[in-house]
Amino acid sequence: MNNEAKKTKISERRKFFTLLAQNAGLGVMGGLLWSGYANKAKASVPTLRPPAALPEDDFLKVCIKCGLCSEACFNRPQNRDKETGKQRPATIKMAKAEDRATIGTPFFVPTDVPCYMCDDIPCVPVCPTEALDITKVTNKNGVLDPKMMDMGLAVVDQNSCIAFWGIQCDACYRACPLMDEAIKLKYDKNERTGKHAFLKPIVYKDACTGCGMCEKACVTEKPAIFVLPRELALGKPGDHYVKGWDKKDQMRIKNREDKDLTTHDKRSNKKPVDYLNQGLEGF
Ligand code: SF4
Ligand code: SF4
Ligand code: SF4
Repeated sequence: MNNEAKKTKISERRKFFTLLAQNAGLGVMGGLLWSGYANKAKASVPTLRPPAALPEDDFLKVCIKCGLCSEACFNRPQNRDKETGKQRPATIKMAKAEDRATIGTPFFVPTDVPCYMCDDIPCVPVCPTEALDITKVTNKNGVLDPKMMDMGLAVVDQNSCIAFWGIQCDACYRACPLMDEAIKLKYDKNERTGKHAFLKPIVYKDACTGCGMCEKACVTEKPAIFVLPRELALGKPGDHYVKGWDKKDQMRIKNREDKDLTTHDKRSNKKPVDYLNQGLEGF
């Protein structure tokens, strides 16, 4: 092979390896981009976090994915099977690629294992970064209080809940650790039959902790009661609607007096409260 032919061959080989490296680079980049995209897509899926977790955005910034909360949940004394002495599955799992949560973060799925609202809440104090904020579950006397947990809010799908059809079922009500506080049965007359009664489960947002015991216990094929993160489960009426019968709510609007609620376009210079009271003069 003469020198010219050798040079051409070396140049071709360089081109080949450069292309190979570029493709490999693109592959790695593609992998990174894809995993970033996948995590972003997963972040938009409703995810239930351990008790006392910070709001989702802050939680994702602060949690270092160490798994100590999950370990504490798995190793809690109450989690041992009384007959075999063996550990049962933990409530809190660390998300793997196939799970519907950002990879490596702690989450739980009530239909697999709900939260048992342990008295000593062992999963929270072990968190080294305060992604699980112990102050959120500590009462005025400095005692850990499972009633202060706020993992989510149970929502009833009245179309699928058979109690709303008039069939007797109180599975969720009986499973709730805060029976008659977080969930109550409301008696209603069944106009269709004229003689039977409805006993409808109603969830109270200020008491429900989002533990998911009700979701786990629900008898329908797909649970008719299920827990959602609070920001997804709750609407927001807006500051201009006030409960006239609720002193706390009236304080809320009183505190807003300091804020400028005037509309600055040409349509109205009145404050919302003036607009709402229009025509009420003299009452
Ligand atoms: S409080 Fe719930 S999440 Fe925490 S250790 Fe107990 S069962 Fe697990
Ligand atoms: S213990 Fe705290 S930092 Fe560690 S995985 Fe659990 S929430 Fe994240
Ligand atoms: S999630 Fe269900 S079981 Fe748990 S407190 Fe709320 S209503 Fe009760």
